[in-house]
Amino acid sequence: MNTVLELVLSHPVYAGALFCVALLIVRYALGRLLQKTVKSFPRKYPSDANKKKTFFYHVAIVGAGPAGSTAGYYLAKKGWNCLLLEKKKFPRDKYCGDAVCKTAIEILIDMGVYQQLLEEKKAHVADNGGLCSPGGLSYVGRSKEMLGEIPAAIACKRINLDNAIAMAAKRAGVHLRENCSVSKAVFDKKQGLWTISLEGVGITYKARVLVCADGAPSTLGRSLGLVKTPPGGTCSRSYVEPGTHKFKADGVVFYNRGLLPGYAALFRHHGDELNYCVYIIPGNPKVTNDDLPHWHEYLKTKDPNISRALGKNFKIERMKAASLRLGGEPVSYSDHVILVGDAAGMIDPMTGEGIHHAMDGGKIAANFLDEALLHGNYDNDMMKIYHERWMKQFGHDFVWSNWICKLLYRFPILLDAATAAVSRKGDKFLARWADIMTGRVPKIHLLKPEFVIVITFELFKLIGKRLVGIKPKSD
Ligand SMILES: Cc1cc2nc3c(=O)[nH]c(=O)nc-3n(C[C@H](O)[C@H](O)[C@H](O)COP(=O)(O)OP(=O)(O)OC[C@H]3O[C@@H](n4cnc5c(N)ncnc54)[C@H](O)[C@@H]3O)c2cc1C
Repeated sequence: MNTVLELVLSHPVYAGALFCVALLIVRYALGRLLQKTVKSFPRKYPSDANKKKTFFYHVAIVGAGPAGSTAGYYLAKKGWNCLLLEKKKFPRDKYCGDAVCKTAIEILIDMGVYQQLLEEKKAHVADNGGLCSPGGLSYVGRSKEMLGEIPAAIACKRINLDNAIAMAAKRAGVHLRENCSVSKAVFDKKQGLWTISLEGVGITYKARVLVCADGAPSTLGRSLGLVKTPPGGTCSRSYVEPGTHKFKADGVVFYNRGLLPGYAALFRHHGDELNYCVYIIPGNPKVTNDDLPHWHEYLKTKDPNISRALGKNFKIERMKAASLRLGGEPVSYSDHVILVGDAAGMIDPMTGEGIHHAMDGGKIAANFLDEALLHGNYDNDMMKIYHERWMKQFGHDFVWSNWICKLLYRFPILLDAATAAVSRKGDKFLARWADIMTGRVPKIHLLKPEFVIVITFELFKLIGKRLVGIKPKSD
């Protein structure tokens, strides 16, 4: 044994290698020790007079929508003691277009709930989709072959989707408490602890970190002074009865000139039921959120393309609506607290879609909090890192979305040109377009020659046709 050691130490390369191995072992052992110590810190919390009714957690998440439940799922998977408070009881509805994009699908697969949603016929793969421009040009193509195993989008009712994600979080070890409306959260700077109170219940929870995932209105975020403005947009939803409409595709986005940059969409569920929704997106000075009922009613009967898709005898439920907080909140953090999902404005201002960003944001939040908890540091500067991470991942893209909205409002012909380009180039181009619209690829890619050249060519063609009075034909 001694001779082996002497031999190793006598050669500088062997000695160096031995030293590195020893260093790695010590680093690993110290890391495990630190993790064990930090993860057991609830025992070090101060005693409370009302002990039986006070519970301690590393992280308390308010709101079990896609953002809160995803954050909870990944935190629990990492072994943290995590509380998830939801004011409603699952399964619960949420007004939505029900379009779930690829990034969200990947997370659903990772959570092990995607296959189950498909098998139970609670999710429908949208293979056959497209767009209809303000000038009436349209293209509906197939994306499955272009995008491989994972589809560009599925239609999944939120009553099923949110239930599946919340239950996955619960199975992962999150302490999910339903029917619990959080009325107040107070931060004790000295103890570094949040005290969270519930409406009409004598129980209080204490946690090191608070995650506000309470949706677009973010009553909690606003009460803490983190969210300072009301949501900027709004959206309606109505289900259309199966067998009463003429819509053949899985999903189509309809742009009407008067509503731009807002739009309407039809999305097909299993069993032929449709989701009809209308998005009011900031950027059009002539349209306000209060105009939603008018546009919802007008488009389904008077827009030539939507009314043709729905037919004359469609049966539709009454309009339901909820707000959209778009474009990202400028600050989504403070001492011991972060905002995630709609509360942080993680909705793309060009599409009004936010499920995928809420889930992506929830995952980013969980990975970040894992590091923060290991370091035992949750001050303002540390929490800023979380904000920078989600901004880098998808938030900076919202700036481009805002610019594109302004352009589309002023020059709707650009959408006609884009639709003509998709029509001419076919499904491969449509798949690339879908990637950009769903945030898979940054919007700045629209400036790449593959888009600029084709769209500009179609633009000049359209301008030429309009000058000589030829009406463009749709596919
Ligand atoms: C009509 C409409 C159509 C839309 N269509 C689409 C679409 O097709 N595709 C897409 O990707 N996005 C769409 N969106 C956006 C999408 O719905 C949101 O981005 C997404 O729901 C964000 O998830 P979240 O978890 O942040 O918030 P939410 O889904 O709103 O979840 C917040 C949760 O917090 C709970 N909560 C609130 N306050 C409290 C409290 N005080 N205590 C405890 N719990 C509380 C709520 O009950 C809720 O369960 C649409 C939005 C609207 C309004």
